[in-house]
Amino acid sequence: MHKEKKIERPKLIIGLVIDQMRWDFLYRYYDHYGNGGFKRLMHHGYNCQHTMIDYLPANTGPGHTCIYTGSVPSIHGIAGNDFYDVIDRRSRYCVADSTVHQVDDSNNGPSFSPRNLLATTVTDELKLATNMRSKVFGIAIKDRGGILPAGHLANAAYWYNDKKGTFTTSTYYADRSPEWLKAFNNRKVADSFTKQNWNLLYPEKDYYQSTQDAVSNYEKGFPGEKTPSFPHITDTLADTDRHSILKSMPQGNDMTLAMAKACIEGEQLGQRGESDFLCVSLSSTDYLGHQFGPNSMETEDMYLRLDQSIAAFLNYLDNAIGKGQYLLFLTADHGVAHNANFLLDNDVPAGIPSPYTLGNLNDYLAGIYKQNKIVDTILNYQLYLNKPLIATANLDIEKIKGSIRDWCNKKPQATSIAYVVDMEHMDRSPLPEPIYTLVVNGYNRLRSGDMEIIMNPGWYDYGGKQTGTTHGTWNPYDTHIPLIWYGWHVPKGETDATVHMTDIAPTVAALLHIQMPNGCIGKVIPFEQNENNNKSRD
Ligand code: ZN
Ligand code: ZN
Repeated sequence: MHKEKKIERPKLIIGLVIDQMRWDFLYRYYDHYGNGGFKRLMHHGYNCQHTMIDYLPANTGPGHTCIYTGSVPSIHGIAGNDFYDVIDRRSRYCVADSTVHQVDDSNNGPSFSPRNLLATTVTDELKLATNMRSKVFGIAIKDRGGILPAGHLANAAYWYNDKKGTFTTSTYYADRSPEWLKAFNNRKVADSFTKQNWNLLYPEKDYYQSTQDAVSNYEKGFPGEKTPSFPHITDTLADTDRHSILKSMPQGNDMTLAMAKACIEGEQLGQRGESDFLCVSLSSTDYLGHQFGPNSMETEDMYLRLDQSIAAFLNYLDNAIGKGQYLLFLTADHGVAHNANFLLDNDVPAGIPSPYTLGNLNDYLAGIYKQNKIVDTILNYQLYLNKPLIATANLDIEKIKGSIRDWCNKKPQATSIAYVVDMEHMDRSPLPEPIYTLVVNGYNRLRSGDMEIIMNPGWYDYGGKQTGTTHGTWNPYDTHIPLIWYGWHVPKGETDATVHMTDIAPTVAALLHIQMPNGCIGKVIPFEQNENNNKSRD
């Protein structure tokens, strides 16, 4: 039919998202990484050293969405893991969909889909570009980590059912599981992984990047444990507990990668004469990180094991798809803060505020305006005003905003707050860059709050919990993420130029010669062919 050569594309594109991986983890544990995992990607791929998240909140749902849409919550609509629907006045989980059910499940309750996502993903654009011949799959322990990357046109997204220890999907994609998935689930991978207890990979003295295990009071152990220390025993637990704990263990990453291989084999990805796309997100790094924090031996050990798992996965891809035949990018959906008590104990300003109780704020406002529940909810550091009540009671919304500022200026909340932002009057909030841009990009008119609280550095709201940690703020520890390109048409090199999470999708689109996603605001990252373009500069 056509004489011209077919357009060149990689056989398989793999997006590998490490949930909660800070950029500095590439170097924090560098000395103990082997040559085949992170270092193989860093030394043989293209390393974008300064990749920043360009919106708020820095959470999982928005992060995975931004990576694959090249867009921000203002446009793509995933304004949080949960966001508040301003019109319906109710909270919504980012991938909740009451019109679909879990496949092969008799209880038939509501399940998950990408329907809350308002823009296309780069995976959608690949499907459109090849008239749907490309196959696209999303795989993660977290439903949102698989669903949002794979987009609207995905063949399927698969996530983990922690009651059963199996992977599942919803009727949005198909009415039943494919045979290869049934076979994978029958292997009972979750069971065999949790029958191995979790002990340190190396002698304890090698973990010099972490707080000593037994004396740490910044961590919370697993259910049933007296102290949060090694070894973590799982083989004696009840099945449902083991299936759940697996999410927070290194074996959770291995189970996810085993599932990715089963999908490649079951669907013949990259072996059909079309470019296919596999979106893999490793969720266990986030579950564990929340519980133990970045200064724990648990986190260090998980990354050392993950390094080995990535090495094995790359070797697998070399054999199954072919060296240089696949394009892979490794990134993260967000980073994480240090545990605030750890920082305080070391004289670094930080804090965990007593939770911003809605009750206290509403009582304060009721004292002034004689109306209860003026604020509907506080979510993602955003305050949603009860607009119907404000209209009915004929209250002055600008005056109320002023009163909320006054409340934020009172102790105890005042000590933790840097700014109180009026989302529709950004000019009244003199925010320095890049916070200004992050707030604007994160503001979705129908899904974000009317005012946003920006905390002081080192502070975070984690429901008042003293152990563990969280993420979500504008600060570099939450927003500076790794980004490494590897494989098909990727030169060796690195750049110190600041790029953004929104640049990932248009860069993939450019490499594949397909249209950018329809809400994309990012720029294509130029790969400069150099070994190390910053080191010779003086
Ligand atoms: Zn996450
Ligand atoms: Zn998280």
